Amino acid sequence: MTWVMNVLIYDLTFDDLVLFLKERGYKKYRADQIWQWLYKQKITTFQEMNNIPQGLIELLESSFELKALKMVLKNTSEDGTMKVLYGLKDDHLIESVLMKQHYGNSICVTTQVGCNIGCSFCASGLLKKQRDLTSGEIIAQILETERLLGERINYVVVMGIGEPMDNYENLTKFLTTINHPKGLAIGARHITVSTSGIVPKIKEYAHFPLQINLAISLHAPNNEIRTALMKINKAYPIEQVIDAIKYYLEVAHRRVTIEYILIDAVNDMPEVAHELAALLKGLNVYVNLIPYNEVIEAPYQRSKIENQLKFYDILTKHHIQVTLRKEQGHDINAACGQLRSQHL
Ligand code: SAH
Ligand code: SF4
Repeated sequence: MTWVMNVLIYDLTFDDLVLFLKERGYKKYRADQIWQWLYKQKITTFQEMNNIPQGLIELLESSFELKALKMVLKNTSEDGTMKVLYGLKDDHLIESVLMKQHYGNSICVTTQVGCNIGCSFCASGLLKKQRDLTSGEIIAQILETERLLGERINYVVVMGIGEPMDNYENLTKFLTTINHPKGLAIGARHITVSTSGIVPKIKEYAHFPLQINLAISLHAPNNEIRTALMKINKAYPIEQVIDAIKYYLEVAHRRVTIEYILIDAVNDMPEVAHELAALLKGLNVYVNLIPYNEVIEAPYQRSKIENQLKFYDILTKHHIQVTLRKEQGHDINAACGQLRSQHL
């Protein structure tokens, strides 16, 4: 195997590293040791690997990069939410958000520079996709943010800038490494991937062997409202998204989360709640209602609190499992893409 100079070492799967070492005459246990240093000790220089021969350390140094991100800006709010703007090696800017939950530390990671889906309510979609992040660059967000925080992160949501299913190969590599017992060993049930509804990828993902949670950004119960909010709905209309959810439920046997942002007078009316209940009836899903986080670039307002509660009540009366998310990090603009667009 030949490597382009200075590949990020976190871009290698465990098997990649084993093969790299084998081809250079090193035994497999060296890969165990190296991953121990990378993902358990979380070293920042190769020289810290004190049970690795100097020759191998030098080989690693000349073959791989260890640093992917530079912290540009950090913003912490009263509830402990920490939003970090990172610069990549090629100077693109991305964001990660750390949320303190009662059950542990949860991070929201970015998967692309910009996003091509272009939802009309979202600050991330303002910038067309410049490039995909590599799996190592996504992993590095967890490692760097743990360093800034001085604590371990135990939950991961793939809900930052970008459409993860539009970067599928790197996404699945990322998930495999962070779940790997020799990697970060984050439990599959502690990881959630959110998608705007890329139908063929949802079906492919149904066969992905890890029991990772799936969230679908639905935001509307019909094509008229959904297309106005998400132009991806023209390519994959709501019927196809529901079909893909059914397929996933059948194959993966895992409950699906439906994300639904509540926008004033757009998708938060009682009749829309009834329509949503009818659409989801009988499906093993759970609806996460999220009060919309207003962004300067979009013409939408957050749903009024009484309408949020009414929407919640209607779904409950129809026996749909639902939660109304308490907003977090509102004072520092925690919705995806906002810190970046403000900084520019
Ligand atoms: N591209 C993926 C994942 C990133 S967006 C997706 O769309 O699912 C993660 C979630 O944040 C999505 O449900 C998205 O609709 C939501 N979101 C985007 N902008 C928001 C805003 N201003 N307020 C509240 N939620 C927002
Ligand atoms: Fe992209 Fe998701 Fe934002 Fe839509 S909501 S523009 S898919 S990041």
